Amino acid sequence: MNMSDTAPPIPMAAPLTRHTRQARIVWGSRVVTVGGGAPVRVQSMTNTDTVDAIGTAIQVKELAQAGSEFVRITVNTPEAAQAVPYIREQLDRMGENVPLVGDFHYNGHRLLTEYPDCAQALSKYRINPGNVGKGDKRDRQFGQMIEAAVRWDKAVRIGVNWGSLDQELLASLMNANGRRSVPWDARQVMYEALITSAIESARRAEEMGLRGEQIILSCKVSGVQDLIAVYRELARRCDYALHLGLTEAGMGTKGIVASTTALSILLQEGIGDTIRVSLTPQPGEARTQEVVVASEILQALGLRAFVPSVTACPGCGRTTSTTFQELAKQIDDYLRAQMPVWRLRYPGVEKLKVAVMGCIVNGPGESKHADIGISLPGTGEAPAAPVFIDGEKALTLRGEHIAQEFQTIVENYIARRFGGATQEVL
Ligand code: SF4
Repeated sequence: MNMSDTAPPIPMAAPLTRHTRQARIVWGSRVVTVGGGAPVRVQSMTNTDTVDAIGTAIQVKELAQAGSEFVRITVNTPEAAQAVPYIREQLDRMGENVPLVGDFHYNGHRLLTEYPDCAQALSKYRINPGNVGKGDKRDRQFGQMIEAAVRWDKAVRIGVNWGSLDQELLASLMNANGRRSVPWDARQVMYEALITSAIESARRAEEMGLRGEQIILSCKVSGVQDLIAVYRELARRCDYALHLGLTEAGMGTKGIVASTTALSILLQEGIGDTIRVSLTPQPGEARTQEVVVASEILQALGLRAFVPSVTACPGCGRTTSTTFQELAKQIDDYLRAQMPVWRLRYPGVEKLKVAVMGCIVNGPGESKHADIGISLPGTGEAPAAPVFIDGEKALTLRGEHIAQEFQTIVENYIARRFGGATQEVL
């Protein structure tokens, strides 16, 4: 193989950096920064009835334990507003200090004014400019919400959604478009309406006394190409921190793929300071799935590390038993389940790389690239599973209890490397 001494190296790929203002989300002594060079944050939303303060607090805790750094809750009625301080109290009692975001539509101006304990207990307000009121009520009601944010020093997400776009603004842009010599496509007018609604609302909020650093913008749509087009332009036109998400992404594989595709392209371009994956849970599926997917997107792009990653091969005709699939799942579940405790006990453990491979073809090679890896025997291979630690073959496992023994090896490795513990690796 010929490689010239002067040949330039192949450029490495990495997400770009976009410079935004930094927003600060505060709860008690806890401050979570958004934008301005802070790590991209994961957000999620409960689907409990907020009036059920205990049930909501439990789900908020589950989402936070899964890695959600803010949790949004619906605040839609006086009863829900009254429940918010109790939810906060309950979370504090459980030792869970994740910031709560209140989701307001239609009556947020009244709820934030009439229930000051609710306004204080929340760390951020989500305001949808399309749902704050019509005609001359719109500015006054929007103003009341901004006043509450200024008074209590809260961050605000101005969250525009194409399902609830400001119809008066859209109509006026459509009319203006009709007068163009070459009218835009209706979709492009809609993009313009989304972006204009977000940026003009943010400017109005600043005129009312909200600092630019208290503002985060979002313009959510449900089509992948629409989201990319809108956010590229939104990022070009302003330096507010941006919340990113494909709204109504859908269920299961479709929702995961659509969200991952859209968010990954934008994140790679440096666009997006917080993300949410809006999955419809399948029957019986945990709400935390949306947090897992959001974290995995950031981890796969190399933007964040949340849990140790398990590299596993897809399997093929060379490995006809399900042993390696079971082991890969067992290790993955185990590592994820330990993270709430390990995050505190073993700083840096989230960067660990584990490999679980199905046969000798790629097994030893991939295992050597991981911090710790196991290459299980494929069909017809000797019943032995070499284990590689830090790139070196350390031992070979045999027999019935390979799975449990490998888990113990991983545990010991983690304690030794990340905990300063004295246990020896098997
Ligand atoms: S490592 Fe072996 S079992 Fe796994 S996909 Fe490759 S050839 Fe198949």
